[in-house]
Amino acid sequence: KQPLSEQSQLNSYQKMAVSHKEGPALVLAGPGSGKTLVITHRIRMLIEEYGVAPEHILVITFTRAAATQMKTRFEELMEGQHLPVTFGTFHSVYFRVLKHAYHYDASQIIGEERRLRLLSEVSAQVEPAMAEEGIESLQELLSEISAVKSDMLDISHYYSRTCPEDTFREIYQVYEERLRKEQVIDFDDMLSLCFELFSARKDILSGWQRKYQYILCDEFQDINRLQYEILKLLALPENNLFIVGDDDQAIYRFRGARPELMLGFEKEYPGADRYLLAVNYRSSEKIIQAAENLISHNKVRFRKEISGTGKDGGPVILGSFPGTGEEYERILSHIRSYREAGRAYEEIAVLVRTNTGARKLLGKLMEYNIPFQTRDTVPCLYDHWTSGDIFAYIRAAMGDESRTVLLRIINKPCRYISRTVFSGSKVSLDEIEAMYEEKPWMAERIRSLREDLRAVGRLSPYQAVGYIRKTIGYDGYLKGYAKERHLEENGLLEILEELQSDAGEYKTFAAWFSHMSEYREEMRRQRENSAADRRGVVISTIHGAKGLEYPVVFLPDVNEQVIPHEKAGLSADVEEERRLFYVAMTRAKEKLHIYSVKERYGKSAVVSRFVDEIKSRKDTGGS
Ligand code: ATP
Ligand code: MG
Repeated sequence: KQPLSEQSQLNSYQKMAVSHKEGPALVLAGPGSGKTLVITHRIRMLIEEYGVAPEHILVITFTRAAATQMKTRFEELMEGQHLPVTFGTFHSVYFRVLKHAYHYDASQIIGEERRLRLLSEVSAQVEPAMAEEGIESLQELLSEISAVKSDMLDISHYYSRTCPEDTFREIYQVYEERLRKEQVIDFDDMLSLCFELFSARKDILSGWQRKYQYILCDEFQDINRLQYEILKLLALPENNLFIVGDDDQAIYRFRGARPELMLGFEKEYPGADRYLLAVNYRSSEKIIQAAENLISHNKVRFRKEISGTGKDGGPVILGSFPGTGEEYERILSHIRSYREAGRAYEEIAVLVRTNTGARKLLGKLMEYNIPFQTRDTVPCLYDHWTSGDIFAYIRAAMGDESRTVLLRIINKPCRYISRTVFSGSKVSLDEIEAMYEEKPWMAERIRSLREDLRAVGRLSPYQAVGYIRKTIGYDGYLKGYAKERHLEENGLLEILEELQSDAGEYKTFAAWFSHMSEYREEMRRQRENSAADRRGVVISTIHGAKGLEYPVVFLPDVNEQVIPHEKAGLSADVEEERRLFYVAMTRAKEKLHIYSVKERYGKSAVVSRFVDEIKSRKDTGGS
């Protein structure tokens, strides 16, 4: 779709970057300035003007989605001509190297899902209390392990955010042992192994150096130390390393990315050329202005000039709502009117800070039959372990007295009922209570549990969840658990609030449970939809939308605690959150809606400081 004549429309700075000849070069520029475009045009330049064979060109980036998108953009530019240029992620390229050298097969590489499964086993083994923690805390643990490996950190000096130091160290070590024992490697090992291979075997390295004589890398601010070390080896001896990036969009520090490596590029390569691009072609003037105001509040940054092309899209639309219910209703009604005004659904994106935000919205979209696509996997509210506890209570109240269900609830909160109570052949609470005639205190505990369950069974879903939380005391149990395990209490309570408010939409348990299975079914269908024929409103985390652009963008729940996230206590963390919000805003081409709420799940909420910051520029920061 991209007209070939666009080449002539490149501005003079872009043209200079595109026609860079040899040696290292850095393109440092803001969002929408054509960095990715410059890469695709440069590939063509290398092939058509400089006579480089396509198979000697390596275009490398971080996510598969980004690599695919770049390949598509390039093929459009070449009018569908297929050329053997390599487009890959760091992992896919480095895996190819390992496969050649060690004959690894793909089954030995464990992906995110298997890593999480392994990690959940390992952490339960090291710290039994972690067994019931959900996917989210495991994902965080995994990020930390990645950061340690990819930043080549010394584990003995590492300070963990998710668990006490010695627990983390032990989990890390047991995890590593398990990998060795099962003869598998994870994504981060791929990098270390590749680095070791290149360092030890000059013959192998030089083979790959001859293969990839021109290397182009997008989103370079996300690179971690190990990826960089390997890239430097690979680029030798010519160092035809062309990198593009924007330090203001560095949002992967928590995974070990080191944006300062990009800013230090010219120290690493003293002869490197630097190209600056200063025109944002993507967004309307007002959006650019607001985003620049925001980012000017960061102190640690390389300041870049950026101007727009005079596109008028109207002002940034700010909105504040009593609660998320009203907020999501408004988003839906806007989506419908954009649609009526002739926009395609896929031109609209809703970008959220965390997955929690997306779930309710997905439910609403399904209800109104609006097609949508999700960019990253949104963990389901109903799959969270706290939801699981609540469902176990409800199931028990509905008469399911199976051992798994009862074991799950007897001591949440603690009732001093021993698990061994369920070890005999008797399972129903009736029978068990009768068994304990001799120990009246135990019989009493079981009787009180039965009364609780009976009460739950008589209530509506909404009341039942409330009863379990407040009267039975599940909330209190959860708070204690969170404290003991260093988890975020608010995040967990929020899941319960969300679950309870979801329950409020159904009259009976049966209706609620049947909605859940429909929801799961719909999500499964969504996942199976191939990436190619994706249609519908885009629902994504901000991280998942990096590098992409949409005519209409909604940013819901722009409140303190959400963005900046409650975890971001230190100012460096707030700066990262600000960059994240900057990335979010700069995805929008024409219409940007920034919404906040006054109350989130029963608690009053404060509008994010970022909403104020977009209104005026702060001129102290930057360098
Ligand atoms: P990000 O930092 O978000 O990754 P980017 O710098 O990679 O942004 P691109 O995605 O390459 O920016 O370009 C942004 C948009 O501007 C694209 O739609 C692109 O086609 C358009 N664009 C870039 N340069 C020009 C130009 N010279 N003339 C017209 N359109 C342009
Ligand atoms: Mg880009």
